[in-house]
Amino acid sequence: MSKTKYIFITGGVSSSLGKGVTVAALGCLLEARGYSVSLQKMDPYINIDPGTMSPYQHGEVYVTEDGAETDLDLGYYERFTKSHLSRKNSVSTGQIYHAVIERERKGDYLGRTVQVVPHITNEIRNRIYTLAREHETDFVIVEIGGTVGDIESVPFLEAIRQMRYEHGSSQVLFVHLTLVPTITAAGEAKTKPTQHSVKELLALGIQPDILICRINKPMTKEMKTKISLFCNVKDQNVISAVDINTSIYEIPIMYKEEKLDEVVLNALGMDTRKLSFSHWENLVKKILNAKKQVKIAVIGKYISLQDAYRSVYESLAHGGIANDTEVVVHKIDPEDIDSKNVKDHLKGMHGILVPGGFGERGIEGKIQAIQYARTKKIPFFGICLGMQCAVIEFGRNVLGYKDANSTEFNPKSNHPVISMIEEQMEIERMGGTMRLGAYPCILKKGSTAYSEYKSEKISERHRHRFEFTLRYKDEYEKKGMNLTGFSPDESLVEIVEIPSHPWFVGVQFHPEFNSKPTEPHPLFAGFIRQASKLAKKSED
Ligand code: GLN
Repeated sequence: MSKTKYIFITGGVSSSLGKGVTVAALGCLLEARGYSVSLQKMDPYINIDPGTMSPYQHGEVYVTEDGAETDLDLGYYERFTKSHLSRKNSVSTGQIYHAVIERERKGDYLGRTVQVVPHITNEIRNRIYTLAREHETDFVIVEIGGTVGDIESVPFLEAIRQMRYEHGSSQVLFVHLTLVPTITAAGEAKTKPTQHSVKELLALGIQPDILICRINKPMTKEMKTKISLFCNVKDQNVISAVDINTSIYEIPIMYKEEKLDEVVLNALGMDTRKLSFSHWENLVKKILNAKKQVKIAVIGKYISLQDAYRSVYESLAHGGIANDTEVVVHKIDPEDIDSKNVKDHLKGMHGILVPGGFGERGIEGKIQAIQYARTKKIPFFGICLGMQCAVIEFGRNVLGYKDANSTEFNPKSNHPVISMIEEQMEIERMGGTMRLGAYPCILKKGSTAYSEYKSEKISERHRHRFEFTLRYKDEYEKKGMNLTGFSPDESLVEIVEIPSHPWFVGVQFHPEFNSKPTEPHPLFAGFIRQASKLAKKSED
């Protein structure tokens, strides 16, 4: 643990500057220089985790192998690096206070007054040290959520200030990401907000070592010198983070060109080692030079939010990488779809994907879209709720059970083809009652899933309460929807397929949490392969 170096990334001026992607890109570059990294996110909110937050508040909930519901930044960490994340990589103010208050109730503080400093700050530091101890990586990179100046991030900043004081500048590094806005009328990039943001940090006892400035075009030497002078940061340590509009996977290349990795290693007195980065550069070349294009409709009720299905969009792009194909996503709100206009929405699509979700809103539109995909033989990929809707659609339109439904939407349905597993029936508390995290699944030989995974046993992450109702198994299979993936004890249905359709796969799990640009998920790769076949056919 003592040799682990700690890199803390804070954000200033504004939120949404791409701190998560910066952390992930730095991890990617340090790995390319032969170092190992662990990445951790500190979220200043009081919720224990984002599991119960509305997507409008939080965007996607990213699920780790061990079933933690976390911030979507962890998705970037896993996609950009080799690190495997668990619940220990995601920390919130809620978790910190919960742990301290539980200890206080048990009497562990022996009658002392429990305070933000040192008790809360010690708990924050322990979470960081635990990760360092367990992973023994060369670096632990910690993203401090929120923006400097927020009241709620103060304890986190105090904890990392203490760490710098104790371990010194050769072991603890402060990187601050800020915004250098361009005032349109003046056509000039302004450094003042960055200067103010650094002052806020200084007031908390933190002098940043490196400044990363988000800007629309690279900073001039003069700008860097100015920021350097006002902020006490060497001018070679002032880095431009230029807006990238092509592919998110270009960001590590942009930072490599800005020498972020070298500056970080030099600041910590570490050898820069040889960079072996061609795999990543080739990947980006492949993305930018894709020869084909497919149109994929994604039908989810939160499509107006950029981040609500972040991992799904990324995984679709990975499927594109596997097939040298650019994936153009058409986001469609299911509430806009009805039986009359469904073809207007979906005409010309080469694939239709219905992602996960909760609640009844938009369900009927999704079912219409799935019926269209099934009957028009358009590749279909249903994920979690998307799979459940495919089962409902088949129940209604093929089995002829007009009121087939999930008990989530109609508890009184005579044909509850999707229902809660019994042992969960009596639990009513929100959050913490779901099937969460990775579970093994056994695939049927000869199925589409088996031919995509090329393996009989897989493991995928889950986040749901409802399941296929097993007593309908034979009826479905007789009418042409096969159940091709099961939990090892065969009690839970994990995959449904229609073998007479070119590619119709519904999965109860979330494959989008297991896909990387360097290792596209087999089901996304297969879905895009089949969509490009349809695209080619429509061209001919
Ligand atoms: N609402 C469904 C369930 O709880 C699906 C969940 C999801 O898509 N993540 O089972």
